[in-house]
Amino acid sequence: MPLTNSQYDAVMRVYEEKQRTARYRLEKNTEIVYEKIPAYRELDKQSASISIAQGRKLLEGDKNALPELKQQLKELSEKKTSLLREHGFPADYLTPAFECNMCHDTGYIGNKKCNCFRTAEINLIYEQSHIKNLLKTENFSSLSYDYYEGEDLEKFTKAVQICQNFVKSFYLDYRNLFFYGTVGTGKSFLSCCIAKELIDKGNLVIYFSAFQLFDTLSKSTFDKDSKEAASGISNDIYDCDLLIIDDLGTELTNSFVSSQLFSCLNNRHLRKKSTIITTNLSLGELRDRYSDRIFSRITSNYDVCKLTGRDIRMQKKTASTAK
Ligand SMILES: [Zn+2]
Repeated sequence: MPLTNSQYDAVMRVYEEKQRTARYRLEKNTEIVYEKIPAYRELDKQSASISIAQGRKLLEGDKNALPELKQQLKELSEKKTSLLREHGFPADYLTPAFECNMCHDTGYIGNKKCNCFRTAEINLIYEQSHIKNLLKTENFSSLSYDYYEGEDLEKFTKAVQICQNFVKSFYLDYRNLFFYGTVGTGKSFLSCCIAKELIDKGNLVIYFSAFQLFDTLSKSTFDKDSKEAASGISNDIYDCDLLIIDDLGTELTNSFVSSQLFSCLNNRHLRKKSTIITTNLSLGELRDRYSDRIFSRITSNYDVCKLTGRDIRMQKKTASTAK
């Protein structure tokens, strides 16, 4: 159990709030429908009285009561759906709108934690809620080709295709991505796009800058009392559905970092868990800075994408000052 009791309570309170919101919205929508379509309310009343009547029959030993009830409710529900449509409401207007359709915002499927709960846990443990904000702006719907031209544009277009395929075949294919190139060419942006798509599908995605990753790993190795150690962090890092290591090479590289990186990449490879790495280092610098075995792990198991171009952040800055 990686969460403390108070963290667990905090997560559960968020779920209760979500359920309350969904219930409230449903009640409001029901009121609106009853007001506009009195016949709908009648059908709801019929459903209730049929259920009671058939329930009574069932208790009296009538084996047909249940299948009859199911059939009658099905017919009523079809009538209700067509009433909604006739009056211009969407067919799902009176279906509770849960944020997570897997667990209906309870956090659990049976007695197993839903992936959305695990994501909430991971956000708390790794304090990576800033990623959530980042993903609001950095995603496929905000993707723009405007900052690239010529050969740079070709490379970027190809990288976008690779990213889209990565998302599409995530459940079929085990793949890893390595983005390298100069500063501000969209490497982190593309990894955020993938993160957003996969988080939305309920996957466990951990997003670390290289500095944070090694800082967290060293705390869990050397500081046995730390929160990170208690949370069994290396297991999450080895086992999450997707690990993103952003800006590899900006950390202080030493033999500890090098061995942790190898063990991380190797463990994930053995478990067939995908990893995305972005770096401003060239391939030559990568080989010089880390061990040969890391270099060969990456070059043999990763789709390597090189991005080039003028620094997008600088371009945006210039554009906004020119206005
Ligand atoms: Zn869920």
